[in-house]
Amino acid sequence: MTYTNMLDKSRDALVMQASRFANFLAHHGARRPGVASALLLGTGLAVGIGGGIVGNLSLRAQVEQQQAQIEATRADAQREINALAARLGELQAEANRLNALGERLTRIGQLQDGEFDFNKPVGVGGTGEVEDMPKAELDSGLAQLGAQFKASGEQLSVLESLLFNRQLDMNSVPSREPIDSYITSNYGGRADPIRGGRAFHKGIDFEADVGDPVMAVADGVVSFSGRRSGYGNTIEIDHGNGYVTRYAHNSRLERKVGSLVRAGQEIAKAGSTGRSTGAHVHFEVWKNGAAVNPKQFLQQQSPLRG
Ligand SMILES: [Zn+2]
Repeated sequence: MTYTNMLDKSRDALVMQASRFANFLAHHGARRPGVASALLLGTGLAVGIGGGIVGNLSLRAQVEQQQAQIEATRADAQREINALAARLGELQAEANRLNALGERLTRIGQLQDGEFDFNKPVGVGGTGEVEDMPKAELDSGLAQLGAQFKASGEQLSVLESLLFNRQLDMNSVPSREPIDSYITSNYGGRADPIRGGRAFHKGIDFEADVGDPVMAVADGVVSFSGRRSGYGNTIEIDHGNGYVTRYAHNSRLERKVGSLVRAGQEIAKAGSTGRSTGAHVHFEVWKNGAAVNPKQFLQQQSPLRG
């Protein structure tokens, strides 16, 4: 028997039952309303069990109603999915931001590769069967992940500002040599190279050829750029914290007063201008208005620099 046949048969049966009931009502209903109501209820139940084929709704109307319900449910589910997708997008953006921050911190802090790898994807998955995740579980999982991201993001931000401030401090103290060369004359008392006799040498001389690059030994602002008696073409950089450095006898000056310079940046070309017997870089460090021995700064490499 086909499904259609079954439907037809049950419909015929129900139609028959309904017409019998109608006859029954015609004969007895008026005199015995209580029985009639009970029978009406019973028939209504039978009609309901029969799939509502006989009744006010046709089968087609029922199918259409069900389709509308399915459509509405599907639309609801899609809205939920869209909301979750948007939340996931936010978390992904947050993760990208944290990764970028982590990379910066790794670079600033000179952290060893392997110890921190912010590009490595977070391990996910498992060995169990794939199941549909209950929505509530997915929601709370996402909320937890969001809170976790927020907390670690705040920690990283604090760490970043600490490291950044420390780096600024380190870079504002002379901590490198002004030229990639060797020392030919130290700070302190020595024989004057031109007039002879004792003289106090307020800086350190580095061997150089005319045109060799002279570099800032720390971050700072150029506070003097021009000729100074005896020093020739001179550049001075104020590094803050009471430190000023001076680079003398240059053949050419490459930064003007007021320029911001970074540690290691070229500021002049070496030469032999001023009171000089040959090309070299005369380098001085001043601390709170007094020349100090630059040597104490030269071997210092910031632990935050490579
Ligand atoms: Zn000198």
